[in-house]
Amino acid sequence: MNILQDVDLSQYSTMRLGGHARYLTEVTSRREIEEAVAWAVEHEMPPLMIGSGSNIVWRDEGFEGLLLINKMMKYEDFAEDELNHYLTVGAGENWDSVVERSVVAGLSGIEALSLIPGTAGATPIQNVGAYGQEIADVLVSIEAYDLHTRTFLTIPASDCASGYRTSRFKTTDHDRFLICSLTMHLLLQNPGPPFYRALAEHFAEHSITTFTPQVVRDAVIQIRSSKLPDPAKVANNGSFFANPIIDAGLLTQLQADYIDMPYWPVGDDSGNAKVPAAWLIEQAGFKDFHDPETGMATWPSQPLVLVNEHASSTADLLKFKQKIVDAVQTKFQITLQQEPELLP
Ligand code: NAP
Repeated sequence: MNILQDVDLSQYSTMRLGGHARYLTEVTSRREIEEAVAWAVEHEMPPLMIGSGSNIVWRDEGFEGLLLINKMMKYEDFAEDELNHYLTVGAGENWDSVVERSVVAGLSGIEALSLIPGTAGATPIQNVGAYGQEIADVLVSIEAYDLHTRTFLTIPASDCASGYRTSRFKTTDHDRFLICSLTMHLLLQNPGPPFYRALAEHFAEHSITTFTPQVVRDAVIQIRSSKLPDPAKVANNGSFFANPIIDAGLLTQLQADYIDMPYWPVGDDSGNAKVPAAWLIEQAGFKDFHDPETGMATWPSQPLVLVNEHASSTADLLKFKQKIVDAVQTKFQITLQQEPELLP
């Protein structure tokens, strides 16, 4: 086990901010997880696992513990029959590479989750979803290390408490499990309509009428790359706020004042609706906004993405975030929730 000391955490967040980690090690196997956790326990410090830092904001104070970087690699495709495939992938695999390989194999189920930054192991934590698909739709089980019992276990998808961009790993069991791998059920078949609106519009515009996993992946890549900055070039954490769900009462009230406010009913009898956070932020005056005080900005084609232009600390980022939260709260009585996790 190679343990590094006093490591700059800004290298482990695509926002490129944060303090230092007291200790850091990479883990590539179950045995290395056991060793690392035992070392942390022996040295009386907390272990913490991350993937590639695409959805993490580090505090300026840093982390007084042992940071485990998940590098567990695996890609195993088990074909049960001509239609049903079970794909088991290591938590440390780059998510988009997993999507690419499955799409090249003709498998359907995660093609709309193309180009989402981060590792495979991070996807069940917030039940990553986009363009009408989410991990919970295909998840079979997760293999994890339980820090409470210090054993490995298999958690079936039905025990993950997955919801809209959430799961037990983000809520009740936050900090309990280290995810090692996940198994997904994919189908060797072509996807079909109806497609999510942005995809349907793209297909209509490009006169695309034959749909394969690759066609959907290509469309998602085009849509995402036209709207979102590449985290390798521009420091950002993707969407910084979740799309809020508001109750029927507030929806009616806001519709009276904002006739063209976009919204989507959540799909039950509650009358509650999802409202695009991007629209709220734009309306609150933060479209293509560059803040000289903090060095932060909103991305011109997607104000939901906060970019670090020349911020010097996480405090700057949080100050900018609060300006947006306050403006949206004042105008719409909606409290935006931060999506990237503030660690530790
Ligand atoms: P978008 O597609 O315009 O979506 C903005 C909001 O409107 C989302 O809440 C979305 O719901 C909803 N929406 C749009 N079309 C809908 C439809 N036909 N039916 C129901 N709801 C609809 O904006 P975007 O911000 O560029 O996001 C693109 C996709 O990436 C969305 O699916 C979004 O959820 C996803 N995304 C996921 C994450 C994550 O997993 N953490 C982060 C950022 C974006 P849905 O959220 O249910 O799609």
